Amino acid sequence: MKEKVECPYCGEDINIDTDNWCDEDEVYEYQCEECGKYCMVCASVSWSYDAEKLDCKNGLAEHKYRDVPISSRGHTMRLCKVCCHVEEEKEG
Ligand SMILES: [Zn+2]
Ligand SMILES: [Zn+2]
Repeated sequence: MKEKVECPYCGEDINIDTDNWCDEDEVYEYQCEECGKYCMVCASVSWSYDAEKLDCKNGLAEHKYRDVPISSRGHTMRLCKVCCHVEEEKEG
């Protein structure tokens, strides 16, 4: 099924293909063809669709990192809770 959501940045329609969506509250990332910015599209229970801004992925804001444990020995990685970007190790 093809659906449309409104781009939160430029207001243009983003065409999304919901055929591969399996869960009701899955979240999918789409790129607006009009302005090229990424947004997060969530399917709600009522099967309406909503697009949220992903400022950090578009380079408009800092990523909101949080520490996520990756091993039982206390290692963590820094993961952006907005776009799931993993912070790269800075050298030096
Ligand atoms: Zn747009
Ligand atoms: Zn981010």
